[in-house]
Amino acid sequence: MIPLVLLGASGRMGRAVAEAAAAGGGFELRACVDREIPRGAASPEWNTDLSAVLRGGDVVIEFSSPAAAAAAATICAERGARLVSGTTGLDATQERAMTAAAERTAVLRASNFSVGVLALRRALASALAALPEWDLEIVERHHRLKADSPSGTALTLAQDALAARGWPASALVNGRAGRLGARPDAQIGLHAVRGGSFVGDHTVLFAGPGESLELRHVAQDRAAFAQGALKAARFVADAPPGAYTLEAVLPAGR
Ligand code: NAD
Repeated sequence: MIPLVLLGASGRMGRAVAEAAAAGGGFELRACVDREIPRGAASPEWNTDLSAVLRGGDVVIEFSSPAAAAAAATICAERGARLVSGTTGLDATQERAMTAAAERTAVLRASNFSVGVLALRRALASALAALPEWDLEIVERHHRLKADSPSGTALTLAQDALAARGWPASALVNGRAGRLGARPDAQIGLHAVRGGSFVGDHTVLFAGPGESLELRHVAQDRAAFAQGALKAARFVADAPPGAYTLEAVLPAGR
């Protein structure tokens, strides 16, 4: 049994991971951590402080906040616990805390834990190779409570495209307004739609002369992310220190 500690356990993703872990087998949900403890919460152990419950050998799955994610990485490294991290929107200092922790323990991060988005990224690589001249725009839709924009997944897709085309980060633009004139060739527009209860919807639009192509992934249920996070937890449970991505868990062609 893999000893699991959930950080952000009261949140949308935390609840989805707890449900999937209970149904999936192979996990002992040892502790739930959140700054908001649900009324009447009993077993397993609930706490507002990760360091009060964490033991060496635990696997922490966190979907919380950038500050909590970075602090968790440091605590995991100190205690010899492993980390699966899904929080998006970290700043440069928080990113450095993640990198430092991965030198001392196994840290697996993904801006999107669904197998469908991994497939979308692979399809994107192939479309980028086939359509080097076409314009590229990314449109994402999320629920009205999402804190960060554009989504971490949209930024990952954009980074993939920037790397493939050899463009600098300044080629990304967040929306457009005003009389801007013609679109530059070396530009990727990112468009973040917020409303209702969209779980996560990402379209990469390729537009060429007289034709277009859309690659779209729609997450309808957070269980899709939870299943990926549990696969990642199984992976890090026996992994040496290092920074891992979902590619390590689900290599292409498997
Ligand atoms: P949410 O607001 O529903 O849940 C976050 C939980 O974390 C809340 O219960 C909150 O109380 C808790 N929390 C925040 N700061 C804390 C702290 N300092 N200490 C303890 N608990 C703290 O949010 P959500 O929809 O579950 O998303 C959480 C994060 O995961 C966001 O960054 C979101 O973008 C990201 N996310 C990633 C994926 C993925 O596949 N990687 C999928 C969905 C969401």
